[in-house]
Amino acid sequence: MQYELPLYRPPSEARSLIFQVTIGCSYNKCLFCGMYKGKRFRVRTFSEIEKDVKEMSQIYPYARRIFLADGDALTLETSYLLKILELMNKSFPYLERVSSYAGPTNLIHKTTQELRELKDARLELVYLGIETGNDDLLKKVKKGVSAAQMIEGCRKVVDAGIRLSTIILLGLGGIKGSRVHAKDSARVVNAIDPHYLACLTLMLGPLERTYEKIMGGDFKLVDKWQSLRELRWFVEDLELSDCLFGTQHASNYLPIRGHLPEDKDAILEVIDMALKTGGSRYLRSESDRGL
Ligand code: SF4
Repeated sequence: MQYELPLYRPPSEARSLIFQVTIGCSYNKCLFCGMYKGKRFRVRTFSEIEKDVKEMSQIYPYARRIFLADGDALTLETSYLLKILELMNKSFPYLERVSSYAGPTNLIHKTTQELRELKDARLELVYLGIETGNDDLLKKVKKGVSAAQMIEGCRKVVDAGIRLSTIILLGLGGIKGSRVHAKDSARVVNAIDPHYLACLTLMLGPLERTYEKIMGGDFKLVDKWQSLRELRWFVEDLELSDCLFGTQHASNYLPIRGHLPEDKDAILEVIDMALKTGGSRYLRSESDRGL
């Protein structure tokens, strides 16, 4: 099987078999995301997918986990996704879980009933970038949905019984928009109540100039202290029922992991300790951040 590179997957899918059922991202407009900018979006034909599945089922007949790439496999028509899942279930008799990235624009076009059918066909986990709960920022970064649509789409996933793994992007609003980004994001995440929540910190690389231009003349990227304050404002407002929370991603300054709600005070204590000491003892150095 040959992948069309670059290929991305969530860190937790390191041991999964990956099949590209789409190439690129059907939306591909988010301002901060360069993952699929070099790929023209297309849906792979069933015979292309079938050929890959046949080959891999002979090499890994005991595969338990499959990840559907590229950027938003949930853009596929539900009937086509069900056909793909049927093929996976037939070809890998020990299959326990299929997962995929989704963009919020995909979920606008899916009903909870369709998502339930996908769950019944073993789509167990969906990864989605909320990025922010602030409407103004969502518009500026061209996420394609409002905060209300983000909540509606994500709730469909949760209501269908599919586990939902979400991301908030620290620093998205720069220094000036830091507090409102944190507070609105907590409000939206609370309404969604996801199973997994990760914070990443904005790293723009070559996109920095374009981003600054679109965000306005007074936009300034957050530094490590502002990123921690933003994380504090965000976590202190979180009211989640059963969520694994983490900031271990390489882009972050302070790696933390805990279960919410019970670890909330401990997480806040760690952030406060890092903020109070004013030194970098607890923090990743700039050179250790990176992807
Ligand atoms: S939907 Fe996801 S993969 Fe597509 S451009 Fe936006 S952030 Fe990138």
